[in-house]
Amino acid sequence: MRIVLVGPPGAGKGTQAALLAKTLSIPHVSTGDLFRANISQGTELGRLAKSIMDTGKLVPDEVTIAMVKDRLRHDDSGNGFLLDGFPRNTAQAVALDEILAEFGIALDGVLDLEVPEDEVVRRIAGRRLCRNDSGHIFHVLYNPPAVEGVCDICGGELYQRSDDSEETVRTRLEVYHTETEPIIEYYAKQGLVTTISALGKVDEVTERAIAALRENAND
Ligand code: AMP
Repeated sequence: MRIVLVGPPGAGKGTQAALLAKTLSIPHVSTGDLFRANISQGTELGRLAKSIMDTGKLVPDEVTIAMVKDRLRHDDSGNGFLLDGFPRNTAQAVALDEILAEFGIALDGVLDLEVPEDEVVRRIAGRRLCRNDSGHIFHVLYNPPAVEGVCDICGGELYQRSDDSEETVRTRLEVYHTETEPIIEYYAKQGLVTTISALGKVDEVTERAIAALRENAND
C-alpha cells in the first residue's frame, strides 16, 4: 500500500504512522524524522533544516522533494510506504505525483487525521520523544512513561522537540491551515481521501485507520 498521512501538528501522525507501518509491513517515511536525523548527524541539510524548523515554517520544497525522491528509491519502498509529513503543500503534492509517475506507481490512499485545535495544543505541550527511536512517543499526561524521562520501550532518554514550544506551534498550525490543508482538496479530487477522527486511545485510532484504509482500497 502507498499511503499519505495528513493532519495538523499534534494529531498523532508520528505515533499512528509507526503503528500503521508496522501493521502493514511498509516503511514509515517521515520528512520530519529525516530532517531530525540530519540535524543529529550535523549535515549541511540538517543545519539548514534546524534553522527553519525552529521557526515552525517549511523547509524549502526543492531540498525536501529531493530528499523524499532519494528515500523512495530504496528497495524497502518497493512494497509500498507510508508518507508522514509529506507532501505539506500543493507544490510538493504535484512533485510527488511526478515522482510516482516516473517510478510507474500511484498512491492508494490519503488518510486525514482530524482533531480539534484545543486538543492539538494540549497534545503538543506534553509530547516527549525517545532519542533512540522517534516512533517511541509519550505524553506526560495521556501516555506517561513508567519512569519520568525514560522510554518504556528501549530505555532511551525522552526529550521535548525544540519546535514544540508554544510560539512555534502557533506558526506550525497557521502553516498547516494555509499551506497543507489545500492538499486534502487536491487529493479529494482524485478520490483518495478518507477522514477519520484522531480522538480516543492510540490503539482505537489505529484500528479506525486500518479499517478506513482497507475500505478505501476495496472501493
Ligand atoms: P514534523 O515532524 O512532521 O512535525 O515536521 C517538523 C518540521 O519539519 C516542520 O515544522 C517543518 O519545519 C519541517 N518539515 C517536515 N516535513 C516537511 C515538508 N514536507 N516540507 C517542508 N518542511 C517540512
